[in-house]
This record gives sequence, structure tokens and C-alpha cells, in this order.
Amino acid sequence: MERRCSVINTSKLNKELTQLPINEYVFFKSKDVIFSDEVRMICEKNGCGMYGTSWACPPAVDSIQRCKEQCLHYEHAFMFTTATVVKNSYDIQGWIDARREHEKLTDDVAKIFRSYYNNCLILSTEGCSVCKVCTYPNNPCRFPNSMYPATESYGILVMQQAQVCNIKYNNGPNTVTYFSMIFF
Ligand code: SF4
Repeated sequence: MERRCSVINTSKLNKELTQLPINEYVFFKSKDVIFSDEVRMICEKNGCGMYGTSWACPPAVDSIQRCKEQCLHYEHAFMFTTATVVKNSYDIQGWIDARREHEKLTDDVAKIFRSYYNNCLILSTEGCSVCKVCTYPNNPCRFPNSMYPATESYGILVMQQAQVCNIKYNNGPNTVTYFSMIFF
């Protein structure tokens, strides 16, 4: 699905993005991103079990305030989803595979944006799974260009953001929907 931002010429980007297996996407202004300290607090209470395990998660990603400032430093935001069918809600392997595919697609989307814009900020799902064992906290990240912090770690309220952007948060029974965002 193609959605346009009124403030930039997205025609070249759209042409490339529509070649990819993106479910839905939208361009909007960074100033319209919905932040919530509570989202970040769920991270800090180790809601997904990843807190303090990688460079892509709090506390390594910096304070909530600094994360917000980083996002707002950019003028534009882009959000996209993948929607993958799984056997049922207990299909753990299906969820893992869906996330792997989503991260591969995030790499492809990142490559396109980086060919147009320097220093994009790329956020994705649930921390980083690039390396089997993360170097955190003893050594620097091995692949900083492939390491995408989780949207939640930046305090972004994805469910509400999707709603105001007219992007489906849930694509129906037995599907898993993943989100990534790019600031540019
Ligand atoms: S790319 Fe590797 S070293 Fe960097 S955050 Fe991810 S798992 Fe850790």
C-alpha cells in the first residue's frame, strides 16, 4: 500500500519500496510520533526479557529523553509492517521465522533509505539478534549498521501510532505483524 507524505517527494522511494514485500507503509512527520514513558518502563521492567542484554536495548540505547531527542532531530518518519501467517498462537517457530523475515526486510528498506539520506535512524523489533552472543557490555557492537534498536526502547507507542497512521496493528487471526521505523 502506498501512502504519501505531503512534504517530500517520495516518488523515487515509493518506486523502490513497492518492489519489496512490505505489508503497509506510511510517511509522516517526526513531530507527530507518539511517545510514552510507560512503553519504555515496560522495557526497564524487562517485559520482553531483553533488557540489558544488547546494544539495541535499554540501558545501552540511552535515556528515554535522549532517545526522543534523537528521533525529533529528524524531520521525517517512515513506518512499515510485515504480516505473516502462522499456524496458531502457539506456533513459536512461525513467530521466530516471521521476525527473521521482517529483519531481513528491514535491512533491505534501510539500504534504500541510506542510498538517499545520510545517518538515518532505524528502529525495529525486540532488540538485536544479529550475533549469537552480543558483545554487550564489554566490547563495542560488531555490526552497528545492522543493529536496529527496538521501537519500544525509544518509547514509541506503536499501537497508537499505527492507529493514527491508518496502519493495521493486527492483520487478523493467526497472523503476526511486525513494525519497523526509519527516521530521516
Ligand atoms: S550486532 Fe551483535 S554486537 Fe551489535 S547489538 Fe546486535 S548482537 Fe550485539
